[in-house]
Amino acid sequence: MNRRGEFRVTVTKDYLVFASAHFITFAGHRCEGLHGHNYRARVTIEGALNEESWFVFDFVVLKKIMRRLCDEIDHKVLLPLGNPKIQLSEAGDSLNVAYEGKPRYVFPKADCALLPVPNTTVEMLAELLTKRLRAELDAMGARGLTMIEMEVEENFGQTAVYRVRL
Ligand SMILES: [Zn+2]
Repeated sequence: MNRRGEFRVTVTKDYLVFASAHFITFAGHRCEGLHGHNYRARVTIEGALNEESWFVFDFVVLKKIMRRLCDEIDHKVLLPLGNPKIQLSEAGDSLNVAYEGKPRYVFPKADCALLPVPNTTVEMLAELLTKRLRAELDAMGARGLTMIEMEVEENFGQTAVYRVRL
């Protein structure tokens, strides 16, 4: 059957949240102090209709993956691995965080999530969650998907959206 329209499915749930601490660096020599957000994620997937089940993607599976991705970084200090202004070094069970070479924080290692991003902005978190979701979808052999859009909110009315064509 030919359909002209496209389908997309969206998941946003109470449990797709992560309460995490972070700080970002700005251009020049400015760096935020440590603070936290109750982040919320919302994902939209676009793709061909699976004509056996008549859906784009199984909601149950999508919710489960998204919940795991959020849980991984929930109740953690989010730290960027790719920020040239931030130096991370391990000392036993602790993680020392320096900003431009000056010691700034010491956290228990177990409480930190080291992320492959240049800065823990909502934009970069949205892109990271998209990459992680995409890897999961690829691993399970999901087919026919054409687009992922990830929204991450860090505050009421303050969100970033990352969208990638597959
Ligand atoms: Zn913040």
